[in-house]
Amino acid sequence: MQFDVVIGGGGPVGLCLAQALAAQGRRVAVVERQPRQVLAEPAFDGREIALTHASRRLLEQLGIWSRLDAATLSPLRQARVQDGASPFALNIAADKRDGEPLGWLVANHRIRRAAFEAVAAQSGITLLDGSSIASLQRGRDHVEATLDDGRRLQAKLLIAADGRLSALRRQLGVGAELHDLGRSMLVCHVAHAKPHHGIALEWFAYGATVALLPLVGNTSSLVLTLSPQRAEALRALDDVAFAAEVTRLCEGRLGAMRPASSRHLYPLLSTYARRLAGPRFALAGDAAIGMHPVNAHGFNFGLAGVERLVEALAGQADPGAEGPLRAFAGAHRRATWPLYAATQLVARLYTNERPAARLLRGGALRLAAAVPPFRQALRMHLQH
Ligand SMILES: Cc1cc2nc3c(=O)[nH]c(=O)nc-3n(C[C@H](O)[C@H](O)[C@H](O)COP(=O)(O)OP(=O)(O)OC[C@H]3O[C@@H](n4cnc5c(N)ncnc54)[C@H](O)[C@@H]3O)c2cc1C
Repeated sequence: MQFDVVIGGGGPVGLCLAQALAAQGRRVAVVERQPRQVLAEPAFDGREIALTHASRRLLEQLGIWSRLDAATLSPLRQARVQDGASPFALNIAADKRDGEPLGWLVANHRIRRAAFEAVAAQSGITLLDGSSIASLQRGRDHVEATLDDGRRLQAKLLIAADGRLSALRRQLGVGAELHDLGRSMLVCHVAHAKPHHGIALEWFAYGATVALLPLVGNTSSLVLTLSPQRAEALRALDDVAFAAEVTRLCEGRLGAMRPASSRHLYPLLSTYARRLAGPRFALAGDAAIGMHPVNAHGFNFGLAGVERLVEALAGQADPGAEGPLRAFAGAHRRATWPLYAATQLVARLYTNERPAARLLRGGALRLAAAVPPFRQALRMHLQH
């Protein structure tokens, strides 16, 4: 089978990329190990994705945003970060002049479903579901992928979009920085007595980081970062005991709480690939940069990568030509590395319980709040 581009991985980034490349008139194959029915009706996975204005614009262009049910989108009006019990808070508020929120919270499974629907309605995309790429051969002017069932695909360009523990990245011989922070994230919806007013709260309690992301009505997405043992124990509690424990952990900030969804655990892992492109290949989404979820930018970075790659390939007869791929890799690294590195530092500081680290982080929040350009930069990053 002949294509212009083969994408390994039909996650949210792989599907958005397929859609954007097909809109350029490319013939695209997506190889995804899950069956088509799972992609068409993805199950709730606990993740609420905070989307920036730039991500919304791209999803609109790709015909994905309009497929999301407007009643399920939650505007994010303000973010408030606190250290422990200190009453001091770093506030990042939306610019009131234009009335626009900082961003929107959208459930990951809804994004996946909308992206699948858009891809299914687009000509030029072949979805090879229930399959993986078993081996690769790269020649001067093409790449050949052999699937686990023996089918062979030939293309000008191969894109790895198979997640942060990407098998394709390894097959391509690309190393990656991998940080395992030895923590787990427990995510679920909670209903609470008091309203959240569209404000996201995050604070650093003893041995745990707690975030509450505002959803529709009096519900929030609870994101707890804990030791794996504590996270597993919390997940296993019955609803009554869980409600009591999360009300205590959230210090009554939003009143009494009760669980409002299934609970999901994720390991706290972040990765950054040593190369973002090379001869006849490129990396996309978490396979390229697996951001620390604390900064809520993994998918936003994935979409920014889609935009940069598609822009670099626009008008190129050969989508696997070296020059444009090199330009994409340089631009994407320059745009993402500083925030990735800063997030790693912050994540280490806020998971370290030693007294010096505690002192430093209280100071860091005050410093960030006292430097208006810093707050402005954060707001700009979200809104533009
Ligand atoms: C708790 C949590 C909260 C988050 N919150 C935010 C947020 O607020 N904002 C934000 O921007 N990001 C957030 N993220 C990050 C975001 O979810 C990821 O960046 C995004 O899902 C990456 O998409 P992807 O398509 O690159 O990878 P994935 O979603 O991992 O998809 C990879 C796909 O590849 C397939 N696959 C894997 N291996 C193979 C193989 N060998 N062969 C074929 N197919 C394969 C998988 O089945 C899957 O469909 C969060 C993440 C977590 C865990």
